[in-house]
Amino acid sequence: MFRNCTFIPKNIIKKINIIGSGIAGLAAAIRLSKKGYQVTIFEKNNYLGGKLSELKLGSFRFDKGPSLLTMPHLIDELSEGDPNLTLMPYTKLNTLTHYFFEDGTKIKATSTLNEFAKEISEKLNENETVVLNHLKKSAFYYKITSDLFLTQSLSKIKNFLNIKTLKGILCIPKLNLFRTMHYQNAITFKNKKTVQIFDRYATYNGSNPYKAPALLNIIPHLEFGFGAFLPKDGMHQITKHLHQLALSLGIEIKLNAHVEKINLQNNKVVGLTSNGVSYDCDSVLSDIDIHSVYEHLLPKEFKPKKLLSQEKSSSAYVFYFGINKEFNELDVHNILFSENYKEEFDCLFNEQKPYHDPTIYINITSKLCKLDAPSNCENWFVMINAPHNTSKEPITYGSELRKQVLAKINRMLKTNLESYIIEEAVLDPYEIEMQTSSVGGSLYGNASNNKFSAFLRHANFSSSIKGLFFLGGSVHPGGGIPLCLLSAKIVANLFPNQN
Ligand SMILES: Cc1cc2nc3c(=O)[nH]c(=O)nc-3n(C[C@H](O)[C@H](O)[C@H](O)COP(=O)(O)OP(=O)(O)OC[C@H]3O[C@@H](n4cnc5c(N)ncnc54)[C@H](O)[C@@H]3O)c2cc1C
Repeated sequence: MFRNCTFIPKNIIKKINIIGSGIAGLAAAIRLSKKGYQVTIFEKNNYLGGKLSELKLGSFRFDKGPSLLTMPHLIDELSEGDPNLTLMPYTKLNTLTHYFFEDGTKIKATSTLNEFAKEISEKLNENETVVLNHLKKSAFYYKITSDLFLTQSLSKIKNFLNIKTLKGILCIPKLNLFRTMHYQNAITFKNKKTVQIFDRYATYNGSNPYKAPALLNIIPHLEFGFGAFLPKDGMHQITKHLHQLALSLGIEIKLNAHVEKINLQNNKVVGLTSNGVSYDCDSVLSDIDIHSVYEHLLPKEFKPKKLLSQEKSSSAYVFYFGINKEFNELDVHNILFSENYKEEFDCLFNEQKPYHDPTIYINITSKLCKLDAPSNCENWFVMINAPHNTSKEPITYGSELRKQVLAKINRMLKTNLESYIIEEAVLDPYEIEMQTSSVGGSLYGNASNNKFSAFLRHANFSSSIKGLFFLGGSVHPGGGIPLCLLSAKIVANLFPNQN
């Protein structure tokens, strides 16, 4: 005799469709495939990786987007538990960043804390102990807040009911959450150059140090504590490595597969539609900007207006210069600071304009990845913070910005850069939006310019649609490679093992 029951035979493998092949989409696909799910990735571009892609210009190779890797153990974890999956090779950097100021002061931030504190003390007249204590506090704050803000969903009550999280909550008053990052740094250090060096960490998630909470002072710990890394063949190797892992696991990848719709029945996901064809599945994971999901893929569903209206992170204007000269004074990561940091951020976030004397970031992977440029040449990735593009129109300030950038580089490095440029391309906020669908080309989803921004990111799952999950830089816990990888881990942990 048979009875009605909801028993699902073990041999029915659950299907998951993932929209977008950014780092979070790839990482979630790998984690869920290892748990026994049948995973398909739908990517609208003809290449994988979203912002984490590459550009080839003549004999030069450039990482198109991210240049700094921290917390690489989150990538190592993806190969764990399966002897057929390889690890990605990467190098730990000794010099984290080489800072240049207009008055000729140069500071090398090295990964050895005592060495860095000595450099700051000798060149900027700070007390070494004050510098070391600041970094110790950064580590301490990371330790007590990471479980609360980074590694779990903030939208599940049960996550607040464990000792570690409760401890984190009780420590919040000690974090001076209601002060700004700049205020906290300005009362800690004597020299405004040291303050500028530490304020800069707000830009690691596209925020304004004059508005962002002092909680962001945990970011230096990611570099000084966990370290700064560069994959052996440059940052794009991360995408190539995850692609390889995905193939080894049998994950299906569809390129040129634009998703137009998430298909629902009775408030439950039943599949998605890509290029006019519907693909059934049990769950959909979206790795695309959350605005795009509500606007295009679920236009009839209720929109969480408050979350969607949060201030966006900054975007960027990037010049890729193939240079036929080697600059021995430069390292992998270099910063040429603006003279008036406050004015720069006011301009970017209040006036929504690029600043006339921008802080310039120069990344040169060919310092370590010798195949990235011909001999005696260098591949310069020159990035300037820019406001996200609210106009939806192409950017018009590019040629003016190029002049300002070249003039500043020439002045500060005593060179004539234009005479050495043999290859050139640009990426601007408009193009970033076109290529990745990130609203206004924002690099990191929402900015953290609000004391409560950590609580105002979209959750990693839908509470009204069963089987719908969200990953990537525009949702909890936020943008940047490590946090995107954490979003993938949080979502994968919501799925039971099928093996
Ligand atoms: C210039 C630049 C510099 C940066 N520097 C750093 C750095 O140094 N360190 C760091 O940690 N982070 C950095 N970031 C941020 C980091 O790149 C991002 O936070 C991260 O890569 C975002 O990954 P994601 O998983 O959210 O997906 P994304 O990279 O945003 O990819 C989303 C993917 O979804 C696809 N897609 C969109 N809509 C659809 C659709 N309808 N159907 C199918 N596919 C779709 C897109 O084509 C894209 O491939 C930088 C970003 C940029 C642009």
